[in-house]
Amino acid sequence: MAGLFDEPSVSYVQVAIERSVDQFPDGLTYGVPERLYPLQIGQLVTVPLGKGNSPTPAWVIATTDEPSKLSTGKEVKQVYEKDRDAIILPLELVELAKWISQYYFTPIGPSIATMLPGPVRHGTGLVTKQLLDIASNPTPDVTITKKQQAVLDAIASTPESERPIEPTTLMKLANIRSRSPIDRLIEHGQLTCHHVTRVEATWFRQSVDTTIPSELTDEQVTVITNISSALKGYSSHLLFGVTGSGKTEVYIRIIEKAIEHGGMALVLVPEISLTPQTAARLMGRFPDKRIAILHSALTKAQRHQQWSLVAEGKADIVIGARSAVFAPIPKGQLRIIIVDEEHDNSFKQDQAPRYHGRDVAIRRAWMAACPVILGSATPSMESWWNATKRNISTLHTLTTRAPGLVSPIIEVVDMHHERQQGEIGNSVLSSKLERAIHQTIATDGQVLLLLNRRGFAPWIACASRTCGWMLKCEHCDSSMVYHRRKPLEEAGFVRCHHCGVEQRVPKQCPDCSKKIIQLGAGTQRVETLLRETLHLPNEHIARLDSDTMRKSSDLHAVLDKFGRGEIKVLLGTQMIAKGLDFPNVQLVGVIDADTAIDLPDFRAAERTYQLVSQCCGRCGRSEKKAKAIIQTFSPDAAAITLASKGAYEQFAAAELALRKTSHVPPTTRMVRFIIRDHNFEQAAGRADSLADRLKSIATDSINVSPAATCVLPRISDRFRFDVIVTAQTSKELQLFLKVARKTVKQSRDLAIDIDPISML
Ligand code: ADP
Ligand code: ZN
Ligand code: ZN
Repeated sequence: MAGLFDEPSVSYVQVAIERSVDQFPDGLTYGVPERLYPLQIGQLVTVPLGKGNSPTPAWVIATTDEPSKLSTGKEVKQVYEKDRDAIILPLELVELAKWISQYYFTPIGPSIATMLPGPVRHGTGLVTKQLLDIASNPTPDVTITKKQQAVLDAIASTPESERPIEPTTLMKLANIRSRSPIDRLIEHGQLTCHHVTRVEATWFRQSVDTTIPSELTDEQVTVITNISSALKGYSSHLLFGVTGSGKTEVYIRIIEKAIEHGGMALVLVPEISLTPQTAARLMGRFPDKRIAILHSALTKAQRHQQWSLVAEGKADIVIGARSAVFAPIPKGQLRIIIVDEEHDNSFKQDQAPRYHGRDVAIRRAWMAACPVILGSATPSMESWWNATKRNISTLHTLTTRAPGLVSPIIEVVDMHHERQQGEIGNSVLSSKLERAIHQTIATDGQVLLLLNRRGFAPWIACASRTCGWMLKCEHCDSSMVYHRRKPLEEAGFVRCHHCGVEQRVPKQCPDCSKKIIQLGAGTQRVETLLRETLHLPNEHIARLDSDTMRKSSDLHAVLDKFGRGEIKVLLGTQMIAKGLDFPNVQLVGVIDADTAIDLPDFRAAERTYQLVSQCCGRCGRSEKKAKAIIQTFSPDAAAITLASKGAYEQFAAAELALRKTSHVPPTTRMVRFIIRDHNFEQAAGRADSLADRLKSIATDSINVSPAATCVLPRISDRFRFDVIVTAQTSKELQLFLKVARKTVKQSRDLAIDIDPISML
């Protein structure tokens, strides 16, 4: 690395440094010495950074023969080295990164870093392995011990397709504890040994029972015909199909057509580990296609491997969660993008760049000139608005369930009434729901119960009516949630769901020394209650939430058991409201439909509608009768009455009218600036001055709200304020942000959220 700038630069490049370099949101300029010329866009290089010129990896994002205009007067540093082994980022991804950086107000480096799985960025997952095979010309007349013979027998009985084989596997097959018989056999020329360095490449196969429907419904045929006629060039489609209407079948048929003559299809699903069924069904239906899976539950090596297969153009179908929208599909290969359950919040990343996978998918389809299909039974207001009011997307509907599926009977239970009738503290299960659970189990059906609240009890308070003490987190403005160690044991602790801090439960009220009581119910308490009241064998009841599901294999195990009928009652958080398809579910119970309804967020009603409607859609997936019972304290709320009638269009029309009068998305576009500081005055001061600065550059079409404390005013000892900016159109908002970029300094204590989905 000596002789830093002594060679002349023959060309120049703009590079993106992975870690955020705040002053240079668009990348840095470097000269290219002759020995490295030419450099390609998307190539990984090493550049000197900072005063110490420390070698730093960076991606080339633009090349030019002219010295950069930015660098007048200053000496331009030179690229040190290029990384020859790294895969070059497809041009489309570099373009996409530039768009993300601009649209989501993030420096280019972190935007590229977000696109690349860690194992790819760090080159991990490359393994050198020793693999063994039977020698093609074994040395004759060698004395073979008993153990060595066991090894030879084991490898001989291994099918050729599974050889060469790893030494540890061979040891298992031969039932030996030590490697030495294998080493002797190699020495004596009976086994050959290969050393292989590669990204281990295997295709995933999950065998699922995938019956092909004998006949498509008329509605399915219409949708497939209409979308198939638009496979050339960019187009955007919203597939609004009630739960169980056979949307997956529509995707499958359209994918078949789209990649008939080659190319790739990209399918995005929410949190793949929570929706294993969709991925498995697609795999089952395309037995001779090469399907790559991109998601975080894979091992590092697998992630690198699947990514490389896509980058090398070897896959036909790519399935993954949010970040799979950045699959390195080679230029010109992408034929269609499908976003299943497009309304799902997990498509939005909650750290910078705060991108929305669905919106990036639309942009990517536009760049690749291919169609994008957004599918949902409960479309987001954004997508509904785009399809019905802005006409920038075509609406396709499936109004009836697929043949063989029944529509559940939906009942709403007013819990005020139950509370008056029932015993104190036992209003978790209404008598109606409890009876229905018993009846369903008696007729050998299965039950899904939803409660979107973890832990045992969400509040710990003083028993005295006059005292009013409640256990709050010391670091956040939120109450501590009581968790039990085991469902049937009293011992427990409290945890803050915002900062994760845990502590013991105080023995008595610190203010008045009275007894302490637990208020409300989370999944853990309901589980306890179910176990006490249903009198079922222990293994017939299971709870599914992020406390019990530490790994995705835990989830698979529970779902498998449920699928085999070994679990009768499955209780869970919103995890169970997503895409599950089990024909024997005859009862769905929503234990508390109100978990989102009163949140101070303009999307509270939309969330409630989605949760209730999606959850009810999990039953009636066979010809057996099906019922859904929704427990609520707001039986008259539109979100609940309309969800129980399946009247999405009516709900959406009313909701959009409300949004319009209150000037919130999707009828306007929004950006939220969140300021955090350990010091309250500092936070308030910075928020005020930010609001002032933004106001000073706002044009007439931009509305800047005064700075205000967030709904959660303090998290992890940091005070939070926000400034909200809205504009009539995205274009106006982006023009404003372009100017704002010059005055707003990016920092750790400022989060900038474009198109925010949560207002807390
Ligand atoms: P959605 O995604 O709209 O909720 P699915 O695609 O899961 O619906 O379909 C529900 C069930 O109906 C699946 O088991 C699917 O195999 C079945 N199905 C889909 N289309 C048909 C059809 N035309 N005839 C019979 N069964 C169908
Ligand atoms: Zn906390
Ligand atoms: Zn008290």
